[in-house]
Amino acid sequence: MLDGTGRTLRNATITVQGSKITSIDTGNTAGATYDLGQLTVIPGMIDVHAHVAWHFDKDGRYAARPDSPAQEILYSAENAYVTLAAGFTTIQSPGSPSDVDLREAIARGVLPGPRILTSIRQLNERSGTPAEIREKVRQLKKDGADVVKIFASASIRDGGKQTMTDEQLVAACGEAKTIGIRTMVHAHSPESIKASVNAGCLQIEHGVFATDEVLKLMADKGVYFDPNVGVVLQNYLKNKAHFLNIGNYTEEGFAYMEKGLKLNADMIKRAVATPKLMMVMGTDAVAGAHGHNADEIVERVRQGNQKPMDAIIGATSLAAKSMNLEKAIGTLAAGYEADLVGLDGDPLSDITAVTRVAFVMKGGKIYKNVSAGSARVSRSAP
Ligand SMILES: [Zn+2]
Repeated sequence: MLDGTGRTLRNATITVQGSKITSIDTGNTAGATYDLGQLTVIPGMIDVHAHVAWHFDKDGRYAARPDSPAQEILYSAENAYVTLAAGFTTIQSPGSPSDVDLREAIARGVLPGPRILTSIRQLNERSGTPAEIREKVRQLKKDGADVVKIFASASIRDGGKQTMTDEQLVAACGEAKTIGIRTMVHAHSPESIKASVNAGCLQIEHGVFATDEVLKLMADKGVYFDPNVGVVLQNYLKNKAHFLNIGNYTEEGFAYMEKGLKLNADMIKRAVATPKLMMVMGTDAVAGAHGHNADEIVERVRQGNQKPMDAIIGATSLAAKSMNLEKAIGTLAAGYEADLVGLDGDPLSDITAVTRVAFVMKGGKIYKNVSAGSARVSRSAP
């Protein structure tokens, strides 16, 4: 058992009552209700950046505009289900209006899916004056957003340069801090990362063009960094035909994403090597990627030379801390939610074990329990 904070226990007995872990002992020889002795148990994994509503429509094309509310929520529910089956018991979606209904439906305890946190909407350079942006942040909180998602830079498909002004960023992240709601910022260029950190924003997403200087700046300011190097671009390139010629999914956009793969491979090595940089596990999972979330953990280890234990901490206790949930989830210890995932293999010696999920319990309820030898992550097909 890996507890999510860096500790390893052998022959652990985890006692669960209701939705919570009540104790963890070693050396207990009494018969267990579920013997996961062939597996490595870790806390339910957390993806801090997964677009649960994004899907392909019935013709296999990316549905940039939802076909109908019913269709959107059904596809979202499917995405939620495969994400849970892949061992992710909590995700943060940055975000769609339909997330709120899905979040609440899953929380009722019948529909299988991860716990959902959502930004509902996004702020960008078109969100208005600083005063208008402050009002929008307050409205998001009233509407039940868990986090504010901010676009400080253009998409990687449009070059990734800073788009919001420094004043707009100060308004967004300053107001969020004042009213007590977290912020996560899409930022690719070094300028946009620097401006976001200096505006008091709490977490940076993507950072394809992050320089050593801004990596150090994030580390020094205690800003979380969520690079996405293992799932999102690979998924776009694999599913190019499903996205091509919709919005900025042009040939030029795909060329930028192709280049992004190499930039990411270089950036993740430097990010891993940056002392004290808090790297949380997010995938930016979009249509086609749901259920493949753990590939991000594998690639951070493979491309970035991140230590497997650190990669797992980034997907469990540190991810929980980034969402202010470190006392409830992301750690296996008495008093925590019983979110347990059983992996077929030892991820410390073979990180791909995180993609072989044989057992999933969320809040004390078992959603998946297959024999270790045949464990495979469910895949969502377009
Ligand atoms: Zn995203």
